[in-house]
Amino acid sequence: MAEALLIVDFQNDFVRPDGALSVPGGDEIGARLNELAASGCFDLVVATRDWHPPDHGSFEEQGGPWPAHCVQGTSGAELHPTLDSERVDVLLDTGDERDLEGYSAFERPELGRLLREKAIDAVYVAGLATNVCVRGTALGALEEGFAVTVDTGASRGIDVEGVVATAEAVDELSRAGATVIPPAR
Ligand SMILES: [Zn+2]
Repeated sequence: MAEALLIVDFQNDFVRPDGALSVPGGDEIGARLNELAASGCFDLVVATRDWHPPDHGSFEEQGGPWPAHCVQGTSGAELHPTLDSERVDVLLDTGDERDLEGYSAFERPELGRLLREKAIDAVYVAGLATNVCVRGTALGALEEGFAVTVDTGASRGIDVEGVVATAEAVDELSRAGATVIPPAR
C-alpha cells in the first residue's frame, strides 16, 4: 500500500497564538508533523494551505462562521516557519475562490488525480483543525475511495458555535471508516 501524508493548513493564522484564527494548541504539533514527514513511511508529503480571497464566503462579513483568515498573499496565510518545508513534495492551495469552501483538500479534483497517478491508495491526515479541514479532507478522501488514517495527536481542534465539535468530528470520522489514532499519553 502506498501512502501519502497530508499536512493540513499548518499556517501562521492558525498556528500562532496571535494569529487571525488561532487554533488552541496549534503550535504544539509542529515537531510531530516534522517527525512524520521525515519518517520515511510516506511515498508523498502534501501540505495544504487555506488560501482565501479577501471576500471569502466563510468569513463573518459574508455571513460565515470565521473571522477573516489566511487571505492570499498575507503572512498569515504562509506555512508556519517551524514546518520543515524541504520535506514537503506538493503544496496545495484550497478555498481559493469566494464560493469554494476549502474544508476538504479533495474539493477540487487535482489532489485525487495526483494521488491516483502516483498509485497512492492510502492517506494519513494531520494538522489544523481536527473538526474543520482535517475532518473535511479525511471525509473527502474516504469518498474518493482512499484508506484514511487520522492522527488526532498531530492535530488540534477549534470549537466554535455553528461548527461540528472536535469530539463529535472524531467519532464521525471513525464511523465513516477512518482509522483514528488517539493522542499519545
Ligand atoms: Zn478557511
